[in-house]
Amino acid sequence: MQVTDPSDEELLNLAANAAKNSYSPYSGIRVGAALVGENGEVILGTNVENSSYGLSICAERVAVFTAVTKGIRKFKKIAISLSDGSGIMPCGACRQVLREFGRDILVITRDKTGKTTTFYLDDLLPHSFTLKGE
Ligand SMILES: [Zn+2]
Repeated sequence: MQVTDPSDEELLNLAANAAKNSYSPYSGIRVGAALVGENGEVILGTNVENSSYGLSICAERVAVFTAVTKGIRKFKKIAISLSDGSGIMPCGACRQVLREFGRDILVITRDKTGKTTTFYLDDLLPHSFTLKGE
């Protein structure tokens, strides 16, 4: 099923569902991401760990790299969720990878009470590194 321009709540549910496919035998932290391209297409990602820990990759970066592979380079928003539906914030590496493609991307997750929370990427990674001068 192709979902386009979902609500924030639908996007969090898609991320939680993607997290169920996580390969995370080392951390046990099952993360999913649902990224919305400028065309409204939703691209999913989940974290994939490796016994050589440094080779592991976060759900957010899987989604971004998959989107780029599909030719999508501008993003509206990304939802991040654990497999049980609770929230988690993107790590610094994922914030920087997202920043490569824009500073006004909305990052959607849930707070400790389960309430949906949104941030602009620029607020999560102020004074960010970029070679584009944007
Ligand atoms: Zn990350």
